Order: sequence, then structure tokens, then C-alpha cells
Amino acid sequence: MSRIHNFSAGPGVLPEGVVRQAQADLWNHEAAGIGILECSHRSKQFDDVIESAKARLSHLLNLDDDQEVLFLHGGARTQFFMIPMNLLRGGRATYLDTGTWSDGALVEARRFGQVDVPFSSRTHVPQPGEWGEVPENTRYLHYTSNNTVAGTEFHHRPDPGPGWLICDMSSNFLSKPVDGSKFDLIYAGAQKNVGPSGTTVVVLRKSLLEHCDTDLPKMLQYGIHVNKGSMYNTPCTFSIYVIEKVTAWLEDNGGIAAMESRNIEQADKVYGLIDSTAFWQGKVDVESRSRMNITFTTGEPELDTRFWKQALEEGMSGLKGHRSVGGLRASLYNAQTHEAVDALVDFMKTFEQTHG
Ligand SMILES: *Cc1c(COP(=O)(O)O)cnc(C)c1O
Repeated sequence: MSRIHNFSAGPGVLPEGVVRQAQADLWNHEAAGIGILECSHRSKQFDDVIESAKARLSHLLNLDDDQEVLFLHGGARTQFFMIPMNLLRGGRATYLDTGTWSDGALVEARRFGQVDVPFSSRTHVPQPGEWGEVPENTRYLHYTSNNTVAGTEFHHRPDPGPGWLICDMSSNFLSKPVDGSKFDLIYAGAQKNVGPSGTTVVVLRKSLLEHCDTDLPKMLQYGIHVNKGSMYNTPCTFSIYVIEKVTAWLEDNGGIAAMESRNIEQADKVYGLIDSTAFWQGKVDVESRSRMNITFTTGEPELDTRFWKQALEEGMSGLKGHRSVGGLRASLYNAQTHEAVDALVDFMKTFEQTHG
């Protein structure tokens, strides 16, 4: 049976070549006679994989020598509390509230200190200067670079003032050139843009370790994971293996700049159609539109439902909007194919002709 077009917000589409390679490597990886699911995380076989994944991520993100790449458990959501637990410690932090996930992060942070929220919106991200400055004694500024549910995205890097810069990059990780060396902590659940679920990539500036709480359970201390090279306990080996393959695929396909052009081209096709007709409506402000998660609607819930159901019959899945906001959503992650985007745009046109 042939595969259908996958517009899911996560876990999302992966490059075909990577999935096929993984299929083969499940049985026998690198001619070791052992499949990737069955090899020890302490083996040379796996050590090569994790070291390569770290090196590729460091390169793609332009990291400096003070920054460490970690693979941690518990999803991006665990970072929502692990960050303030380690670094806030009764102090003050600034959170930009641009959607479901940043809201989830700031609610957890409130358990560990004072949280200032100078900006809150579901339809746009703040432009530079729109939300003022972070207070002098802020420990860090936290923001969500792409809002998976709302469909907005930062196209600039907010200024953290005197604080550290912390970003949840889960849903636009490696989708465009980002100077990772400008950040103190980056985290991204792998399942949106770089792999399957099961691991969260955390990029930590090692000089922050002296500020981290060392009186926490060991699994929750960044310092332990840095010292043990993400091997304090058994990491999610399969997820790390796929991340290594996806980052290799990125490099083989022109790197991040080429990926960005591709992502712009695909998003423009869908937004272009939305803007060309009164039938389709985008749900967010034009300057804040996400290239990864396009949220749109006909304006009528019943018609929206009819759309995603019919799309499914046409071989396109994952177009239903997030349950908290309704409407429709097309996720165009790095591995999304031009073929899928063209099929979606064609179907949107046909749907308008029959229902407009
Ligand atoms: C999906 C998502 C999360 C939650 O990730 P989990 O790995 O399920 O905890 C957090 N932040 C953003 C931006 C997301 O898209």
C-alpha cells in the first residue's frame, strides 16, 4: 500500500530516505550484526551515533565551545520545569506568552520564582520594542520561537537584556539558519522536526552550570547529564539514531539555508492561496505567520470538519486544527514534500469550488 501525505503537527513527517534506512538498520546496523534497537548504549556502535549527532547539531546551530548538546527525557514539557528548577530558584524571569506551549512553560516556572509576562497574544508575536525591556534583575528571558497550535513564529531573536536567553524551539528547530551561539539554553522535542518522539535536544551553555541547583534529584540536574554525556541513564537510543540520520540528510540537501528556502516556498504556496480568496481565512497576523504550522479556516466549524474529513479520503492526514482552537492546520516541517503541498493546495481549490 502506498503512503499518504502527512500534515501532522507531531510526531510529524520524516525524510523518506531516513525512514527506509532505519527500516534496514533495525535488522543490522553498520554491518555490526546487531540492529540499532538492540545495541548497548555503551557500545562503540552507539557511541559513534551519538557523537556524530552531537557534532552535526553543533555544526548546524553554530555552537561555540562553551555549549553542550544533551539528549534528555520527558519531552519538551519536562524542560518547562527543569529550566526554572535549575536556574530560577526564587529569582525573577521574563516569559513571552505567545501560545499554548509558552503558557505551559510559564505556569510551571511560577512554582520556582517570580514570572513577569510583558506580552501575551495568540495571533501575533511581539515585534522588537513592542513589549518593553526585561527588568535589570531578570535571570532569563524565555520565548517559544514557533507556536505550533496558534500558527505564529518569531522571525527575529528577542533581546534578553541582562538575562540569559532561553528558547523552546521544538516546532521550528533547524528549519532556518539560527545562530545558536547567541542562546544560553535551547530545547526542542525531537518529534516535530528532527526525529521521532522520545528525546529532547537541549543545548546548554556550560557556564550556566555554576548557577544551577545541585540539590535536586540527579535526573533533574543539568550538571549530571553534562558530566555523563547524556548517558547518566539509558538515553532514547533510537530517537538519537534518527536525529543523526535527519541531520545528515539536512547537510546532504544543502544545509539549513536550503531548507529555509524550501520551507518558504512551500508556506508561500498555501498562504498565497489563502490570501487570493475570501473563502479561506488565515488565523494569525500576516507578519507573524509560521512557516511550519499554517492555521486557517473557512470560518464555519462544520465546513472545516468536512474539509479535513474529505482530505483524509483524498490521502491527506493531520489537517484538523488543534483540539483547543479548532479550525484547520497544515504542518509543513522540513521533510514535507512539494508533492504533498501541491496536493493540499489543489484540494483546497477544489473544495472552494464545490463549497464556496
Ligand atoms: C509539542 C511541543 C511541546 C511539547 O512537547 P512534548 O515533547 O510533548 O513535551 C512544547 N513546545 C512546543 C513549541 C511544542 O510544539
